[in-house]
Amino acid sequence: MAQIIDGKKMADEILEEVKKEVAKLKGRPCLAVVLVGDDPASKLYVTRKSEACRNAGIEARDYRLPSETGEKELLELLDRLNKDKEVNGILVQMPMPKHINENLVTGVVSSGKDVDGLAPENIRKLREGGMEGFAPATPLGVMEMLRRLKVHVKGKRAVVIGRSALVGRPVAAMLSNAGANVIVCHSKTPDVGAETTKADILVVAVGKPNLITGEMVKQGAVVIDVGTNRLENGKLVGDVDFEAAKKKAGMITPVPGGVGPMTIALLLKNVVKAYRLQGGK
Ligand code: NAP
Repeated sequence: MAQIIDGKKMADEILEEVKKEVAKLKGRPCLAVVLVGDDPASKLYVTRKSEACRNAGIEARDYRLPSETGEKELLELLDRLNKDKEVNGILVQMPMPKHINENLVTGVVSSGKDVDGLAPENIRKLREGGMEGFAPATPLGVMEMLRRLKVHVKGKRAVVIGRSALVGRPVAAMLSNAGANVIVCHSKTPDVGAETTKADILVVAVGKPNLITGEMVKQGAVVIDVGTNRLENGKLVGDVDFEAAKKKAGMITPVPGGVGPMTIALLLKNVVKAYRLQGGK
């Protein structure tokens, strides 16, 4: 039976570390959180992020704009935030309303304040193997989880299911940078199970409940389930059939309580990193 990875406990430890680090700083790091529209899930996410910042002693400035906000208006706000010396990090909550081009938005946020790791320069740096830029918080959370669990990544066969800009691609790049032999599967992969059954480390980020069955998991594998799906009965589940997979895996994350809490903790670490890179002491 697998070890169940307690992402909540691990995230709480990191948040406590961040709080202690922030308390020692001369100034106060500041994150600007921008939300356009009133998507309930997005509203909940930004509220949680701002709350976590404040709990850790980080200033969170909320910018909540109506859904009819135009591209020009949003880009002007981002330009002001880029220039504002008191703002260390900028987070624009995705997805954007349909009339706003997301690539335009991520392209405008200054790479030095891009704590979400979506600016082109930061994506390039990650692809090239460097850690000096900013990477998205969820993949960072996955890697931090593996590090704290002392999972050896070098030389291991890692399979990532999903290739999104926010999760799949960056996590694959990070695993590769850490020395794993990485296979990426997506919706066009003919036989996902043929790959997952060989995976020492399996990271799943798709958004489909029960996509990964127990049979698809290699005996003793480390299974990280990034998926978050709300079932009709209101229950939150991942992409992995947890009950079946935990009988095969060596370690496995639950949903909720796995990767989710790590995301916010790593976002806060990125804000402190931005503060320091901008010369804050
Ligand atoms: P996304 O942008 O929709 O990407 C989904 C990926 O899954 C795509 O690359 C897609 O392939 C692939 N895919 C779809 N069906 C597949 C199949 N049957 N077999 C293999 N691959 C398949 O989603 P995302 O933003 O990466 O998010 C993925 C999941 O993680 C969602 O449930 C999301 O809610 C969750 N999430 C959780 C956190 C957290 O903090 N825990 C953070 C972010 C996201 P194609 O590229 O070919 O279309």
